[in-house]
Amino acid sequence: MARELFLKNYMEDCVWELLDQVLKRDPEACRCDTCRHDIVALALNQLPPRYVVREQGAIYSKIAMLEAQHRADIYSALTRALMIVKKAPRHGQEDRS
Ligand SMILES: [Zn+2]
Repeated sequence: MARELFLKNYMEDCVWELLDQVLKRDPEACRCDTCRHDIVALALNQLPPRYVVREQGAIYSKIAMLEAQHRADIYSALTRALMIVKKAPRHGQEDRS
């Protein structure tokens, strides 16, 4: 059976993981799906991608978190992205809770 390989930008996982920590520190931030995705997209565009080769269907343990300096970079990228999204949220009225 042919192995199916694909590329994965694990920076994406790291950004999603740190997003909750950044949101926790800002109780006024909107947590709707639109805003969360917008924040992650903006942050990822500021960060270098980290591609790894993965095999379809294989089970991987959680990717080791990046070293402290990278965490700090992700954190500040997320904080900047959050400020931008807070100023101009794209969520529709129906998304507000
Ligand atoms: Zn929102």
